[in-house]
Amino acid sequence: MQNLLNHLTKIVSQGGLIQGEQLKALGLPRYMQPGAIIRPSSTEEVAEILKLCHQHQQSIVPMGGLTGLVQGTQCNNTDIGLWLQRMNKIEVIDNQSRTMTVQAGTALQTIQEAAEQAGLIFPLDLGARGSATIGGNVATNAGGNRVIRYGMTREQILGMEVVLADGTILSSMKKITKDNTGYDLKQLFIGSEGTLGIVTRVVLKLRPAPSTQDMAFIGTNNFKQVTDFLNFAETSLGGSLSAYEVLWHDYYQLVTSPPASGKPPLAQQYKYYILLEALGGDSKNDHSRFVECLEQALENNLIDDAVIAKNQAECQAMWAIRDDVTQVRQNSPVFTFDVSISLDQMESYIEQLQLSLNTQWATNSCMVFGHLGDGNLHLNIGVGDNSTATREAVVKTVYSGLTSRGGSISAEHGVGIQKKKYLALTKSATEIALMKKIKQAFDPRHILNPNKIFDQSSIS
Ligand SMILES: Cc1cc2nc3c(=O)[nH]c(=O)nc-3n(C[C@H](O)[C@H](O)[C@H](O)COP(=O)(O)OP(=O)(O)OC[C@H]3O[C@@H](n4cnc5c(N)ncnc54)[C@H](O)[C@@H]3O)c2cc1C
Repeated sequence: MQNLLNHLTKIVSQGGLIQGEQLKALGLPRYMQPGAIIRPSSTEEVAEILKLCHQHQQSIVPMGGLTGLVQGTQCNNTDIGLWLQRMNKIEVIDNQSRTMTVQAGTALQTIQEAAEQAGLIFPLDLGARGSATIGGNVATNAGGNRVIRYGMTREQILGMEVVLADGTILSSMKKITKDNTGYDLKQLFIGSEGTLGIVTRVVLKLRPAPSTQDMAFIGTNNFKQVTDFLNFAETSLGGSLSAYEVLWHDYYQLVTSPPASGKPPLAQQYKYYILLEALGGDSKNDHSRFVECLEQALENNLIDDAVIAKNQAECQAMWAIRDDVTQVRQNSPVFTFDVSISLDQMESYIEQLQLSLNTQWATNSCMVFGHLGDGNLHLNIGVGDNSTATREAVVKTVYSGLTSRGGSISAEHGVGIQKKKYLALTKSATEIALMKKIKQAFDPRHILNPNKIFDQSSIS
């Protein structure tokens, strides 16, 4: 590898290649032990790097903000990490077409702030916004808090530039929404977890900035209320519904009791807690419409209790309660899951899961919360032990009820290393075979993020 590194170092500017002691000093997570890391500054440098690596059949692991949750950046000393850290520029914000052209290594929060300064918003939002990069968001098709209103990352991308495995630059940096001229190739790279190409630049779709934000925490005692109120709120809020997060009782109690800093906005007596948010553009009427929606819902027993945020600080405090995920560590060790399931199946799935956990582990914790409006739940399960055998048993328990109900083992975090063993629970043999053919066509020498999504040895 050293010979190749000597060539690679000539492509990037000073400090672009990190190895040896410098690499150790980075303190990367244990599952990331690359032989070296290369940090290009431009698409052309990425292309040169890939061209050489393709010639030498050298594996490359793309790295963004390293916030991925499925070990998609796992690597060992035979791999070279390709870190997009230096490609972090916002190139253009175009108010007329409401677009932003940006390099892939730019942090999501930087993009959000720049959009805001331009009087617009970039609506993708997730807890890791400060570190996660737009390239990583694209590669994982990240979801987050406002998918119900604006869609996943896929819906935010108009144009894309990608470097293919052999160094070819595929550039389609268009600002247009409609383009039905055959295959929409950029879609293939969205959610491909760095296995088909390196995303280097994107054109993002920006949206008008809302002028109002209304939020409430709501308590209900049965699941039918949760789904009925979702339908009601979508209609009565006139299209301004922007988040519909639900916290099951145990998770709400955990994140609103010491040592958590959040205070309970509602008493800890309900079975379900809905975090409702509406973003609108009608400063005169939005708030009264929001209040009216809740009043009517209370009158019609669609909900049992509600508290409305009085100002921005209270809105932030409500989001902080929902996002205080680290509290689940109180039940360490915990196994975390990110599943998708249709709303008609969700209640029976969770009930069956809790029953099955209780049967197998007399003492267990099952914290449930998530983007319910999108059918996406995060499960944090602790059974007091994290041996491999126990993990397997918990995984089996979580996934068995899911597959039979047509759900997905990964709603938004991707497959990476962590979930590849279970891919067949969500995708058919025909789908997996076609995915492998696509991988083979794009990366015949298997140099791009090897062994992610599926084992390299299973691709011919
Ligand atoms: C506190 C917290 C909250 C989170 N909340 C959410 C959430 O609500 N919704 C959600 O979807 N995710 C969430 N995540 C997961 C994570 O933030 C997302 O997956 C994010 O999109 C990863 O971006 P990244 O830049 O950190 O990518 P990385 O972790 O660096 O990489 C992720 C994958 O993308 C590949 N990759 C990275 N950059 C590129 C590139 N330029 N070209 C090609 N491939 C690339 C990597 O090889 C890897 O396979 C959360 C994570 C944390 C820690």
